[in-house]
Amino acid sequence: MKTDTIAAIATGMSNSGIGIVRISGDEAFSVIDKLYRNKNGDQVKLSNARSHTVHYGFIYDGDEKVDEALVLVMKGPHSYTAEDTVEIDCHGGILMVKKILEAVIHAGARTAQPGEFTKRAFLNGRIDLSQAEAVADVINATNEYALKSSVGQLSGSVSKRIRDLRAGILYQIAFIESALDDPEHISLDGYSAGLKGELEVMISQVRELVESADDGRVMTEGVKTVILGKPNAGKSSLMNVLLGEERAIVTEIAGTTRDTLEEHIYLQGISLNVVDTAGIRDTEDVVEKIGVDRARRAARDADLIIFVVDGSRPLDESDREILEFIRGRKSIILLNKSDLQIVVEKDDLEKMCGQKVIPVSAKEEQGIGELELEIRHLFYHGELKFNDQVYITNVRHKEALEEALKSLEMVRGSIEDQMPEDFYSIDLMDAYEQLGLIIGEAVDDDLVNEIFARFCMGK
Ligand code: GDP
Repeated sequence: MKTDTIAAIATGMSNSGIGIVRISGDEAFSVIDKLYRNKNGDQVKLSNARSHTVHYGFIYDGDEKVDEALVLVMKGPHSYTAEDTVEIDCHGGILMVKKILEAVIHAGARTAQPGEFTKRAFLNGRIDLSQAEAVADVINATNEYALKSSVGQLSGSVSKRIRDLRAGILYQIAFIESALDDPEHISLDGYSAGLKGELEVMISQVRELVESADDGRVMTEGVKTVILGKPNAGKSSLMNVLLGEERAIVTEIAGTTRDTLEEHIYLQGISLNVVDTAGIRDTEDVVEKIGVDRARRAARDADLIIFVVDGSRPLDESDREILEFIRGRKSIILLNKSDLQIVVEKDDLEKMCGQKVIPVSAKEEQGIGELELEIRHLFYHGELKFNDQVYITNVRHKEALEEALKSLEMVRGSIEDQMPEDFYSIDLMDAYEQLGLIIGEAVDDDLVNEIFARFCMGK
């Protein structure tokens, strides 16, 4: 089937050294043949060039010389889209890349929709759906963990897990179907017990993937953080230290209400989204603003609570209340003002709250390194193991995995209730389809092929 030929500016829309216009589709070479001339000004057909070669020359729009350029030719299927592809590297001015794109359009291409190159890569079977989604995640990654995880997904880490699981499920479906079709030769005696064992393994694998989604979300979106402490404990000073120029990249996005103001801090490769800084930063009327009720609300859906204790004043009721409700949540307790005379015993505090307490001085910027390490430790258990751990970072994938998990658990239930085998295959099929959604694979053809390939019943 002939596809139309698409083109787009592949680099950012800012004045930069180089800009790239990408062309993909059946007419990509005939488009470039109309535009390209070599350094002597002669028309040369790049459609005859070897694949994966680079050509120096000039781009013309009709008779008008537009720019000096390097042109890359890649013949399908050995390209990003698996189609014939041409990339024009020209000077990076916004006006220049637009003029090159115009010339390409004049020569017969049309402008691409957002994501259309990647969509073609998917439709042409070069990457699956989870890999296609990873392309967007790689581009949008805001921290190194998110980036590493997306690169892993792009190279097929998620797909491989899903394919392995599906293969296991499909084997079981095929076995049951074959046995039901041909009971004389394939017996289901004792089959349920074996299936139950296999199911336990699958269920735990799927569950592990679902659980990884929480880490995955933190990785891609940042750690939703709330800083608590009584008035004057040093919350705002701590915030300022964390936001300090060297250490942090800061952006402020004001939400619809003051309550949703978030500040983004980038620490040791981890993004912290500090929520509710409006209250923290406003020192007036502090008692009312940082009231326990309000804090409770803010802390409810936080990933991390940083509790700042003023070490220079004895613990009071408000400290104790905060301690009480952070119990059992991911939290870090800071004993602030370590540069002053400290009246709160670190050991006592640790005993009270049953966790480590980090002495810091927001004023003198002491102990901040330990705080950063602790955050890293809490969320990434020291180091992320990208080689063997697959993280789910996509909500769509998580939902599909949860559905698959339910179906697998139904199968286990059916076995326990000693239901007939054809009940199993319905739920197994559901799990198989749900997992297929992640990689964007159709079900029917697979099943047909699988059944006949594995259990050749050619009679
Ligand atoms: P908040 O109400 O919890 O936000 O507290 P602030 O950050 O506004 O700090 C209250 C007061 O304590 C200010 O005068 C700060 O300068 C002071 N402060 C904060 N952290 C420290 C610290 O580590 N050492 C000392 N000596 N003073 C501090």
